[in-house]
Amino acid sequence: MDLWDDDTCDTRFLQPYQATKTYLCPGCNRDIMPGTGHIVAVPHGAEDLRRHWHRGCWDARKRRRPLS
Ligand SMILES: [Zn+2]
Repeated sequence: MDLWDDDTCDTRFLQPYQATKTYLCPGCNRDIMPGTGHIVAVPHGAEDLRRHWHRGCWDARKRRRPLS
């Protein structure tokens, strides 16, 4: 089962003004800089596993698999 499927996790969009920290995007293993709008994905029932993704990486994740 894919943890990051559309039907296995909830997503929300973090607005640029809400992004106040640097996050590591699992799609490309690069930083998401503060002030960058991006996707937060939360597997159902596993809030502590939530990850922050670049929007483009989230959209492209079916084509380029996460490294970890
Ligand atoms: Zn990314």
